[in-house]
Amino acid sequence: MNVLETALNQVGAYKSWKIFDPGEEYPIDLRYAAMPVLTKKNIRKHFPRGLMPVDRDIEDGLASGEVEFVNTSGTVDDSVTNIWNQKWWDASERASWRLNSHAEKIATGNHPEAILASPLNVGFVSDHVDLPMEKRRLARFLYLNEKTDPRCWTSEQMDRMIRELGVYRTAVLEANPSLLARLCRYVIAKKKAVFQPRLIVFTYEYPTSFHYRQIQRVLRVPTASSYGSTEAGYVFMQCEQGKFHQNCEFCRVDFQPLKTKHGGPSLGRILITTFNNPWYHLVRFNIGDLVRLDEEGRCSCGRGSGLILSAIEGRVKDVTLTCDGRLVTLRELDNALSVLEGVDEYQLRQLSPYAYRLHLVTQRTDRRSLREEATDILSKLYGQEARISVIYETAIAPEPSGKYRVSAAMFPLKIEGFLRERHTCIEGEVK
Ligand SMILES: [Zn+2]
Repeated sequence: MNVLETALNQVGAYKSWKIFDPGEEYPIDLRYAAMPVLTKKNIRKHFPRGLMPVDRDIEDGLASGEVEFVNTSGTVDDSVTNIWNQKWWDASERASWRLNSHAEKIATGNHPEAILASPLNVGFVSDHVDLPMEKRRLARFLYLNEKTDPRCWTSEQMDRMIRELGVYRTAVLEANPSLLARLCRYVIAKKKAVFQPRLIVFTYEYPTSFHYRQIQRVLRVPTASSYGSTEAGYVFMQCEQGKFHQNCEFCRVDFQPLKTKHGGPSLGRILITTFNNPWYHLVRFNIGDLVRLDEEGRCSCGRGSGLILSAIEGRVKDVTLTCDGRLVTLRELDNALSVLEGVDEYQLRQLSPYAYRLHLVTQRTDRRSLREEATDILSKLYGQEARISVIYETAIAPEPSGKYRVSAAMFPLKIEGFLRERHTCIEGEVK
């Protein structure tokens, strides 16, 4: 029985989806396309028993330690409790390494890996006391940071991170790009010497062009973006040629193009169906991101199975609109702003359909000309009638989830209206 049929016949959350199934005589892609979308709200509603086959007993899994419940951080709307199966997660990660030749060579499964992330996402939180290195270790991992707000990092703490990268003989540095960029700005300012890991893997958030620039000035090693989520595991991995390959062994990806006006058909949102996890069946999970299909559909690295993306375009939540209502992804915004020199970080808020506020952190002293340059770029992107203000900040605060937010519209915006086709609705939700 295939994954879809197992879900429809044996997993509670999908029983009501059966009426949408055109039947097994139809091609599998068409059958998936006819199905609704699984939202975080649906997961909360069916958690935990409705997300696993009826013959599985969650109490057994919890008692044996095979699974546990894990909460994602974030606001009430964002946060979800998941059924966490470590064995599946590790296998999904291992499969993703094969999609990048550096990772394939370096990541052996017991390689020393340092993680520079928010402790709200992974690791140990300790805001008031500095934890010694041995208290920040777990398996092959060393968590370099235990503070929830990176704006409070002291020079002693950053010196410690730099020192530990070397002491730990870090092979892979897994990093939240905004945090690693912050550390690299410190290294540049203080002219510090830094141990070079063999590979940097970006996770948790979108690396902006400014993040890349700051990091690459300090760490001259290959980088790869790993894309996935707590719910869906490892979904795409960036190969050594820079494109993104689907982790086909562990997931199916359904692509829903946007309307041409908004960048479709190669730009669209993705829905994830997970494979091989006996405890947690996600079908067409709305992971909340936009991606760009590679137009050639092939890559010079030679990997050919599954979807090939030329880019991850950012979260749906990060989308802004031009004055005439065209959708602008985080990546499009970032590409436009990337020509600015001397920007540490930024955040764009669209306050209303015509009002945009850019928060900028810079070391530049010619603030007036930087303001003019930034305003000019944003007027070209959003339209001449856009009202643009630029505010200088000393730092950008992370979101409650611990992640750095680059852009956002401060008014409700339903992505469904931007999709090329209407899709099946369920339980009164248009998602
Ligand atoms: Zn490739």
